[in-house]
Amino acid sequence: MADDPRLTVPGAGTALLVTPPPTPNGPLHLGHLSGPYVAGDIAARALRAGGRRVLTQCGLDAHQNYVLARAEAGGETAADTVSRYGALIGKALHAARIRYDIMVDPLADPRYRDDVAGLLTELVEVKAVEVAPVTLGACAACHRVLHHVRVVGRCPACGAGAAGGTCEGCGGFCTATNLVGALSTCCSVAPEPVTHSVPVLRLAEHRDRLAGFWSRTVLPPRLRQLVGSCLAGGLPEVPLAYPSDWGIEWDDDLRIDVWAEMALANLLLPARHLRSDAAALDGYLDAWRDVDEQWIFLGVDNAFYYAILIPALHLAAGLPDRPTGLVVNEFYRLTGAKFSTSRDHAIWAHEFLSTEDPAVVRAFVSWDRPDRYESDFRPEAYEAFKARYATVLDGTAPGFDGVLADIELTRGEQALRLEQFDPATAVRAALAAFRSRPERAAGLLGLIGGSIPAGSGG
Ligand SMILES: [Zn+2]
Ligand SMILES: [Zn+2]
Repeated sequence: MADDPRLTVPGAGTALLVTPPPTPNGPLHLGHLSGPYVAGDIAARALRAGGRRVLTQCGLDAHQNYVLARAEAGGETAADTVSRYGALIGKALHAARIRYDIMVDPLADPRYRDDVAGLLTELVEVKAVEVAPVTLGACAACHRVLHHVRVVGRCPACGAGAAGGTCEGCGGFCTATNLVGALSTCCSVAPEPVTHSVPVLRLAEHRDRLAGFWSRTVLPPRLRQLVGSCLAGGLPEVPLAYPSDWGIEWDDDLRIDVWAEMALANLLLPARHLRSDAAALDGYLDAWRDVDEQWIFLGVDNAFYYAILIPALHLAAGLPDRPTGLVVNEFYRLTGAKFSTSRDHAIWAHEFLSTEDPAVVRAFVSWDRPDRYESDFRPEAYEAFKARYATVLDGTAPGFDGVLADIELTRGEQALRLEQFDPATAVRAALAAFRSRPERAAGLLGLIGGSIPAGSGG
């Protein structure tokens, strides 16, 4: 495969940009925009403006059982919940000028569900994934198998409160069998161990290939730390399906875990987009030869999946390693407390954008982005930024002159290169240089604000 020119000539193929699908258990808020969504869109625009072929992928995260829990709490069907919040998410993305080439709604797309289930079956057949007895945790009162929203406790690694999935404190992997003081959220009782035969990925068996992937991948220090603590604690085994009431059906009585679904979808969706006739594992792997780099924009709470589980499944499936980078954000806070959909502590993106200029909103959340540490949305800071943005555009704001403006713009343009992606620097540079270099600064502001390239991504 090394003689394939698409793999050896940088930039000849497609740059794939993946953003985790939003969970339709609520609308998008400004914290979401400040994290992966605006940043990923700016990165795609910057690559396209530089002449790259780009494929952007998102979707709806409909199979999280948080969606089912929200539906149950509201006395409606999960399909109604997905359809209402899916529409609001779409409205917010559109208003923020965020566009995706691939945008799947799993509940509305039977071919997607069939393909995901079919790919897992194939991976079992080629022995990339084993079906074996695994100990899971079930509610001792109602006997449902507990995962994600159905179980809470404390993270075994850092002690923070966590649900099943990953810990928002340290990013570690938490399950009903390893959470300290675990309780089911259905009946508030401790889980009891149950054994089921399920498809399982034993990450320790993929340790060497993962080590190669981690050594070649652009990972921020926070993720290297997570990888280090997972290695020290022993790489876990991850069930890819289990008896459940939510998720894509597989093998009669199991449902595919939503993060396994994501790993499978991230393998097959770009392939199907690049080659409409790509079907089954061999076809997908062949289509992936067109992808010569991939960048994933994500919040730190998804780090375990994108840095460990998904690459492990892709490597096990036979997808060769290729240049990859993870652009990770921390949490954005709202006037001192974490944005929270469930506690309604949020500014909803579709409402905010109905009265605000999307170019200013995108520039502000890029400038204020929590990329290395948590940052805090404060309404007065937004208003001050908006006023400054207006004085820059009407030429009354002070700024750099001559060669200083050129230097600043070069710095700002380079800040959108993905190896050192730093949109805050790009915003500062464009605003500081606008007065003496309006055309070039407007080009940079157009990438940030979502108006350049015109018509990008449909
Ligand atoms: Zn229960
Ligand atoms: Zn933790």
